[in-house]
Formats: sequence, structure tokens, C-alpha cells
Amino acid sequence: MSVNSHTSTSDGTSQTGPQTGGDEYDVVVLGAGSGGYACALRSAQLGLRVALVESDKVGGTCLHWGCIPTKAMLHAAEVADAAAEGSRVGIRLQSDGVDLPAVHAFKDGVVNRLFRGLTALITGAGITVVEGTGRLTGPNTVTVTPAGTDTPATTPEARSLTGRYVVLATGSVPRTLPQVPIGGPVMTSDELLRLETIPQRVVVLGGGVIGVEFASILTSFGARVTIVEALPRLVPGEDEAISKALDRAFRKRGMTIRTGARVTGVEPAGDAVRIHLAEGEPVEADLLLVAVGRGPRTEGLGYAEHGVQLDRGFVVTDERCRTAVPGVYAVGDIVPGLQLAHRGFAQGIFVAEDLAGLDPIPLEERSIPRVTYCDPEIASVGLSEAQAREQYPDVITNEYNLGGNGRSLILGTTGFVKVVARKDGPVVGIHMIGTRIGEQVGEAQLIVGWEATPADVAPHIHAHPTQNEALGEAHLALAGKPLHSHA
Ligand code: NAD
Repeated sequence: MSVNSHTSTSDGTSQTGPQTGGDEYDVVVLGAGSGGYACALRSAQLGLRVALVESDKVGGTCLHWGCIPTKAMLHAAEVADAAAEGSRVGIRLQSDGVDLPAVHAFKDGVVNRLFRGLTALITGAGITVVEGTGRLTGPNTVTVTPAGTDTPATTPEARSLTGRYVVLATGSVPRTLPQVPIGGPVMTSDELLRLETIPQRVVVLGGGVIGVEFASILTSFGARVTIVEALPRLVPGEDEAISKALDRAFRKRGMTIRTGARVTGVEPAGDAVRIHLAEGEPVEADLLLVAVGRGPRTEGLGYAEHGVQLDRGFVVTDERCRTAVPGVYAVGDIVPGLQLAHRGFAQGIFVAEDLAGLDPIPLEERSIPRVTYCDPEIASVGLSEAQAREQYPDVITNEYNLGGNGRSLILGTTGFVKVVARKDGPVVGIHMIGTRIGEQVGEAQLIVGWEATPADVAPHIHAHPTQNEALGEAHLALAGKPLHSHA
């Protein structure tokens, strides 16, 4: 494979060949995932000359392996559930089953449309896309070799790009466990996105975000799912009340939940796999999904050798995304913190604006919204009740039950909106669970981000009948004037 660059022309078409100025740029971005491409696009908008290095496809994990394909599968799962639930609303529906190849075709169609659009955006912005594996070979140099080849020094086709600034954005990969080797029926989310048939028995190792999303999909598709989580509760990063509600909802959907459980090893059992736990009987499964977190992709890329400080593989930065090497920045999943595409976008844009001299305000991690798209969905922003109580002496909360919300009742969902605030002070956290509740996270984020008090929110009228009303109701209650609930 040759190392190409694509440059847009005045009529918007794409050419192969270097941009004027040869291989010298204002910004060389290493990795074209959410963080990297956002940085490249914003830099180009601000008049900087940009090279964007990518070993696979622009769009990265989010577009090809994460957010978009999994949400397409979750939508297919929702349709399957709707068919199964038709009788609840008086509609007789019969599902002939799940056509997994067709689900993949739907998912791939969505991914490909977005991929084509993104490619057009990037070439249209005049960004030079360099295909291949980039490694840091100097404080302002990235050397690119065809993807899959060895070190730059041994590769004759290597091409060096120099930038006044280098932005590292190489993302993350699924973590695995030494006692659970990947292969055959033991998969990470990457392999699961290409699953050919629906297995009967699934064990999901890890009850975090990826674990519960896939557990939800596979249950809707007809598999019998067991979740094995090492910590005492599912989604341990969320408020405890959310974990409890999810546990209840998942058990109601027929899942088996084993929390506080540690896997000691696996062994083949015919085409299936036997999973040994520290306590209790082993569990057999036709598929074992390993979803125990994602680790930074920073190894073998020359970072540490050129002075970039790493901590357990993550790149250490200051609040302006600067690494220990002057002129070298880092964004996205390689930077410790929430591994979320929208955090990557925001960091990428921030760095571009910083490099262009706009002096942007650093990001606040505390108001980054989080959505987990299982059924029921989880949406949250800010501090959990426990975190708030550790920081403040005067925490108050209100939990508005979706049972009192007309739209939620129609959708057949249970759940709640929980608001965590300081007494006579701002809202510091909002935690929601329920079918489609992810769509409510925007207002929650504004409330927490703007440090609004319940009394600030209370006069704002929420449309009836929407699930959004539940947010309004929780704030009305905290402001001392509940309408459809008790204070
Ligand atoms: P995670 O950190 O959310 O969850 C991993 C879970 O595995 C944790 O609950 C952990 O306690 C558990 N675990 C770890 N080792 C274990 C072991 N040996 N046995 C049993 N359980 C074990 O990580 P993830 O779910 O793999 O997701 C990776 C990242 O991707 C996360 O940061 C997540 O936020 C992000 N992501 C986000 C979305 C979204 O925003 N909707 C979707 C998917 C992934």
C-alpha cells in the first residue's frame, strides 16, 4: 500500500499529492477519530495548514466500531422489542425473528453514509489526509509508514511530516484479561459487531457501558444473557440509584446479574466456553463478551521515547491538553478521563482554537453529559449523590418517578429523574433512567453547566406531554412547589 495524501481543489474534488509547502504543516494530527478529525477540521477553518494521519478510516472508533454501529443495533433491538410488545397497546404484531445479516446491512449503511459525509467534509476543508501508521519521531515530526508495517527506520516508503504543532489522538482499544484470551466464542465488542448468528447463551464480562448496551441488544434479539461484574453493582460509574433501577429492569427483562463476581479463567466446552468464577459454579456460554474497559492506544508510537509523559499508558496533559513536550498536544481517549466521543470533539476543537491564538476556555469535565443506550436508557451529568455528599455538607435531592409522567406511561417505561443540588444552591448532578431518556440530557447539561438553582429552572415551562416534563417536575419539587409529586 502506498502512502497517499488527498488534497481538495477549488472545485471541491479530491486529488492525490502533497499540499503546497511539501510535508511541512502548521498542525500534524495523529489519528482521525472524533478528537483528531475535530481538531483537524477546526484548525483548517481557522486557516492553519493541517495533515491528518490515519491508519484505518477517518471517523475512528466512534464511527466504525463504537457509538454509531452499536446505536444502529440498539435501534434494531428496540424495533424487535416493539414487535414483541405490540399487544400491550392493542396492536397484533408477529416477528419472524431477527435477520442478523440484514441488521448488519442496516448498521453498515448508516456508518457508510456518515463516513462518506465526513470524508467529503475533510477533503473539502483542504486537509491533507495521510494514510498509514504515524509515529512520533521527533518533537515536531510524525513519520508515517503503510499501515501494518514495522518501525519507520526499516521502512523505505516512510514519509516524514513536520508540524509547528503535533496533536496526538490515537484513541483506545478494548482491554482484555490475561486469563480470558480472545478467540472463537470469546470476543470483544469489535468482533461482536460482525456476529453472524445469535447465540443462545451469552455471558457479558463487565457491567459497564459497553457490557450493558450489548446485554440489552442480545436480550432483545432473543439470547439468554448473564452479566458478570466484578464490582458490587452494574454501571458502577453512575449514581447508586441508577444502578439499582437498571438491575431491576434488566432482571425483569430476563437477564441474570452476578455482581461482585470475578472470573478466574475460561476453557473450551465444545463450540462453547466454560467460565470459571472465584465463587460458585462455572457458567457455560455460546458467546463470552469481554467488556472490561478500553485502554489507550499509545504503545509503540514513539510517545515515551520523545518525552511525552505517560501514566499507565495514558498521556498526561495539563488542562490545555499540552503534553510534557512543548508543541505536542493530546486529545480524546488517550487522555485520562471520560472516554466519550463528544469529549474528544470538544478537546480537538479546543486545541485547534488554542493553536490559532483564540485563547479558548478549558473544558470542564464535570459538565460532560453521559448517555448509556441500553433499555432502559441512562443519562447523567455532574456528581452522583454520593460524590456530592463527599464534597458538600448541604446536599438535597429529589427523585421524580416516571410513573407520574404521561408520556413515559404511554411508552411503558419505568424510571426516574433524580436531581442532586446544594441547599439554596446550584444543581450539581442530574441522573435519569427510562426508555428514550437519553434525549433529555441536553437540558440537564445546561442546568448543571450553568450552575442553575432549582428555583432558576422552576419558572421555565416544560411542554406537556413530554418526558422532558419529568425534569421540570423534579426541579419544581426541589424549589418547594411540586405539581404532580410530593416535595
Ligand atoms: P467501563 O469502564 O464502562 O466498564 C467496564 C466494567 O468492567 C466495569 O464495571 C468494571 O468494574 C468491570 N470489570 C473490569 N474488570 C473486570 C473483571 N475482571 N471481571 C468482571 N468485571 C470487570 O468500560 P466499557 O464498558 O468497556 O467501555 C469502555 C469505554 O467506552 C468507557 O469509558 C465508556 O464510557 C465508553 N463507551 C461509551 C459509550 C456511551 O457513551 N454510550 C458506549 C460504549 C463505550
